[in-house]
Amino acid sequence: MSLIVQKYGGSSVADAESIKRVAKRIVETRKAGNDVVVAVSAMGDTTDELLDLANEVTPLPAPRELDMLLSAGERISMALLAMAIKSMGHEARSFTGSQAGMITDATHGAARIVDVTPVRLREALDEGAVVIVAGFQGFNRDTRDITTLGRGGSDTTAVALAAALDADVCEIYTDVDGVFTSDPRVVKKARKLDRITSEEMLELASSGAKVLHIRAVEYARRHGVTLHVRSSFNNSEGTVVYDPERLPEGEAVEESVIAGVAVDLGQVKITVVGVPDVPGAAAKIFKIVANTNANVDMIVQNVSAAATGRTDISFTVPKSDGERSLKALSEAQESLGFESLQYDDQIGKLSLVGAAMRSAAGISAKLFEALYDAGINIEMISTSEIRISVVTRADSVNAAARAVHTAFELDGDADAVVYAGTGR
Ligand code: ADP
Ligand code: ASP
Ligand code: MG
Repeated sequence: MSLIVQKYGGSSVADAESIKRVAKRIVETRKAGNDVVVAVSAMGDTTDELLDLANEVTPLPAPRELDMLLSAGERISMALLAMAIKSMGHEARSFTGSQAGMITDATHGAARIVDVTPVRLREALDEGAVVIVAGFQGFNRDTRDITTLGRGGSDTTAVALAAALDADVCEIYTDVDGVFTSDPRVVKKARKLDRITSEEMLELASSGAKVLHIRAVEYARRHGVTLHVRSSFNNSEGTVVYDPERLPEGEAVEESVIAGVAVDLGQVKITVVGVPDVPGAAAKIFKIVANTNANVDMIVQNVSAAATGRTDISFTVPKSDGERSLKALSEAQESLGFESLQYDDQIGKLSLVGAAMRSAAGISAKLFEALYDAGINIEMISTSEIRISVVTRADSVNAAARAVHTAFELDGDADAVVYAGTGR
């Protein structure tokens, strides 16, 4: 008997009909003789709607209360899903994150799983029940409060359950056929990948490809969980996220140079204008930003204007960290001695990812040429071993992705299908 962990995303359980459809899939897996544990997301855009509601009440909701609010979304879907399965004649039981033993640190809104103690889940499985767990939520032992794992965190719930229960498979069911060479909502000709290395998936996820939560990919890598991304709307094969080092002997596959192109519209650019060009200036600026817990991504420093001995430093942070960083820098203007601050929330980031980039020449030249041909201006550039990222204007980043996708010959023959969801 196998133990299968399945995760269903919000667009797969958007309404009562969808919940019944998913329940049927789960029952089929159960009837095939497997133990089944399901992690489920909130219905449709529930999490966004709850966030909107909170922001209508106050622009800065208290983090503890926000987690209380947002975790309610998954409570609704888990209970409805369990009811649907029971109505089909199969035993099913739903559990909140804390009932399921999802122990996290105390960071509201971005909690990390530190332990999983699935005692109650094991009992339920032993009694023959299908187990349904609310995704995205956990519990901190010190504060005794409910936490959430960050947007998209239900994927991580599923992986943590798979690792703790030593599951045979962890299947992530979503609204597209698997992991594509780019977001099918942006690049119509995106091609589904049959497999992708966890290293590339990690880089794509951290570059804005929200098909998998970055922490889910990290956690899976660390615990040796093989992820299988599939559509909940058909039975096609999906994408396997694998670790080349764990492949059985003789199963090595030839990797393509480029795995995919990701787009991220979730960052802002802050420019510190007229910074005295002396040793330690950057250290002071980024210490202040770091103290706000902002996650700095790209950094560019201009050459200093000889006449003034001053320079400009620009960096990007997630939108949610932007205002905080700006305020902290502004308060330190006198001690830092800069002239002014600029805040730009109209930027887009495009990233090209591929493990074989390490040994391939001319990738950046080809990327820049594709952008030049499409008439798109590059504002910032950064690279890692297996990624090149550029910042452009927000309104041209999607066109940039399509141009780069074509230039690197990633286009498929037919248009990719998106089965549901609003892309929100
Ligand atoms: P779920 O609600 O199932 O968790 P998400 O909306 O979080 O679904 O993730 C699925 C979406 O991720 C797709 O609908 C697609 O628009 C987007 N996406 C972004 N990049 C990619 C990619 N490279 N491959 C597939 N989907 C992608
Ligand atoms: N419901 C949460 C969100 O929308 C978690 C998830 O769907 O993975 O971010
Ligand atoms: Mg998701």
